[in-house]
Amino acid sequence: MTALRSITDLDQAGLVPVSQRDTLDAVAARYAVSITPYLADLIDRDDPADPIARQFVPSGQELDGHAEELEDPIGDAPYSPVKGIVHRYADRVLLKIVQACPVYCRFCFRREMVGPGSDALDAGELDAAIAYIEGNPEIWEVILTGGDPMILSPRRMGEIITRLNAIPHLGLVRIHTRVPLVDPARVDAAMLAALKGPRIATWVVLHSNHWREFGEDGRKAIARLVDAGIPMLGQSVLMRGVNDDVETLTRTFRTMISNRIKPYHLNHGDLAKGTSHFRTSVAESRALIKALRGDVSGLCQPTYILDIPGGHGKVPLTESYLTPVGEGEWIVEDPRGGKRPYQG
Ligand code: SF4
Repeated sequence: MTALRSITDLDQAGLVPVSQRDTLDAVAARYAVSITPYLADLIDRDDPADPIARQFVPSGQELDGHAEELEDPIGDAPYSPVKGIVHRYADRVLLKIVQACPVYCRFCFRREMVGPGSDALDAGELDAAIAYIEGNPEIWEVILTGGDPMILSPRRMGEIITRLNAIPHLGLVRIHTRVPLVDPARVDAAMLAALKGPRIATWVVLHSNHWREFGEDGRKAIARLVDAGIPMLGQSVLMRGVNDDVETLTRTFRTMISNRIKPYHLNHGDLAKGTSHFRTSVAESRALIKALRGDVSGLCQPTYILDIPGGHGKVPLTESYLTPVGEGEWIVEDPRGGKRPYQG
């Protein structure tokens, strides 16, 4: 079975109501649609609030634009010295190899750029991107992103890792992907071999927002990666109607840890066009994060992050537990709201 890439496909799979057909066709004409057969099987057709369907099945709400929403919400473009590279922080670059994904998230922050017809880097453009990395010795880390870089064939992935491995000032390749949970068969022996450079470290950052995305084959794909010696981090987005409650967040982060993935970042929803129905307010989000602290293991606590619109970078939106009351005198709030004096 091939991926579901049109409203007709989704209709035949029982994932969209016929009554919304015209509206959803308009959404699909604007933003790419794809759900892998494996992921489609994880959706509970009887649950109108299914958290997987909400993330991947198009909705008419995506046509609702708001003035504050942006085509390039995290501001990649001003920091792109050559095609495919985003160099916002001194020691690391994004290398956007492909603009396609096996699934298209309805809240994607690069939704204006990604899709099946979008540009991948051609051979000359990849050469120029690699030359930029070679020519800037302050770069220590390359973040492969896109699109989803694990959509590449193992041969192509291996070529890229080999080229990055040969750049002496690089220490780390970080790969951001949804593939292990949405198309686990791609994580085969050839891909595992391709991911590991002989010198450079490869880390995989898995994007997942809900524990229900962890199907049996997906968990096995994660185990193959970790057993192959590839450390994994989790990256999530806080999303209304998907994971905006303490119980779901707790179970999602515990599921990551149980599968040997350290929750790394929980992102505040970006100002991507047509995504306001997913965004939580900063105040309610901070209250949720605060409620996790204390009773949930520290291993299960990601950092809650805002990517400041306009390309100004990522900052933690953590609550402050510290109030200054004099020189070296503080009041510290404990996990249950008690106020404790502290000197230091
Ligand atoms: S996998 Fe990443 S790049 Fe692709 S649609 Fe989802 S958020 Fe966007």
